[in-house]
Amino acid sequence: MGLLTNIFQTDLIQGLTLTIRYFFSKPVTLRYPEVRWEPPPRYRGAQVLKRHPDGKERCVGCGLCAEICPSSAIIIRTSEGEEHEKLIDFYQINLGLCIYCGFCQEVCPEDAVWMGNDYELSVTDPFNLNVTKESMLTKGDDPRYEDL
Ligand code: SF4
Ligand code: SF4
Repeated sequence: MGLLTNIFQTDLIQGLTLTIRYFFSKPVTLRYPEVRWEPPPRYRGAQVLKRHPDGKERCVGCGLCAEICPSSAIIIRTSEGEEHEKLIDFYQINLGLCIYCGFCQEVCPEDAVWMGNDYELSVTDPFNLNVTKESMLTKGDDPRYEDL
């Protein structure tokens, strides 16, 4: 019995010490959504599309990003313009299929597609996870991405 009491008191002291230590240490959680997490610079969140300084889209519709995507998350459809230039009729990424590997960014020969830092991607309708070229271009115009 004496031994048991001894063990119990030791455990109690250890537990209290741990509690007191964590009570005064810096919290590891955030009061989300009042306080938002700042992703590191190389974070891989929802993609953005970038333009040239003159406003022209960098994407040339080569389709390499769709080809390399391991999740088949990218759909791109192109056609030929009047002067035989390639027109991008449709460009879409399904953020629900995407595994945020970053291959699309790596393979892009025009530095058009970049992994952004948006991580708040929950939706109530799964169709809202399909992001179009227009919305990705608008996001790419955000000052947060001006250095890309
Ligand atoms: S990050 Fe990876 S999975 Fe997502 S669209 Fe790009 S290549 Fe596909
Ligand atoms: S985003 Fe880049 S890799 Fe994808 S189609 Fe456009 S130019 Fe090609």
